[in-house]
Amino acid sequence: MLEGLMAAQNRLSSGHPGMPILAAKQSSVEAGIGGEERVAEIFRKHSFPFDHRIFHDLSPKSNEQFQMDNYFMSPWYGLVLEVKNIAGVLEFKDNPPQLIRTREDGHRDGYESPVAQLERNRDLLGAWLRSRGINLPIYGAVVLAYPKQIVAVPPAKTKILFPNLIPSYIRSIPQQGKQLDVDTFNWLSNELLNSHQRFIPKPISESFSIPLGDFRRGVRCMTCGRFGMIKLPRTWHCPYCGARDHNAHQRALLEWFLIFKRSITNRECREFLGVDIHTATRILQGMNLMFEGTFRNRTYFFFN
Ligand SMILES: [Zn+2]
Repeated sequence: MLEGLMAAQNRLSSGHPGMPILAAKQSSVEAGIGGEERVAEIFRKHSFPFDHRIFHDLSPKSNEQFQMDNYFMSPWYGLVLEVKNIAGVLEFKDNPPQLIRTREDGHRDGYESPVAQLERNRDLLGAWLRSRGINLPIYGAVVLAYPKQIVAVPPAKTKILFPNLIPSYIRSIPQQGKQLDVDTFNWLSNELLNSHQRFIPKPISESFSIPLGDFRRGVRCMTCGRFGMIKLPRTWHCPYCGARDHNAHQRALLEWFLIFKRSITNRECREFLGVDIHTATRILQGMNLMFEGTFRNRTYFFFN
């Protein structure tokens, strides 16, 4: 996700209206990364006197892709924890859902609402469980993992926790109602792991409704950062700084899949990399991609 966001910003002009939106999303993603480590640490240090499973970064296969930072499961309930790691004074807005952070210098930034993300994950997980005949209550909380987070306006209906409060919150959840028997609980835990798939975000152009034509094409030089590397036999050459890079096309094609589309044709490859039909064919065949269609009209897929 982070990779795609950064690549997309590199390929847009600096005044493009999508830029602030991509930058805000990038901050949200980065904000989650350090926080997840703090939460993992809490789970390593605490034990619970009942059967339970803890999953990190779980993406169960379903019609709609979703990803849970942390999922705690006991035979009585499930608990989804959405972790944020943002410094400053936080205000949770419900309508439209948004998180506003005010920094010490008074600067304000907007983030995607963790409450909305949490509710979506709870809904999709609930549906995933029901489709397997399991009816468990799914609890949820937003975890603020940055040491100096101050909540000025909490969300109306959602529990907010700091990492060290997670164990006592878990102990406070009632263990009542029908519980899963040991076999079902074990089966369900395995089923969750088996169903896990690498989380593949939609291409940036699709997620953020940015026309494909707005993104710059070409191969970027990793040494000087400029676009316009030229294909030579067996390598790529940067006309600006003279750098050579044998594998520049691999990175460029990965960016294609992250930004433009999940598939690529020979023509798209030619236009994107600025190469001839034979080079495009060699490159695409050399990438070990899935494909469909006959030789001439083949469409290649990075992800199955
Ligand atoms: Zn260069």
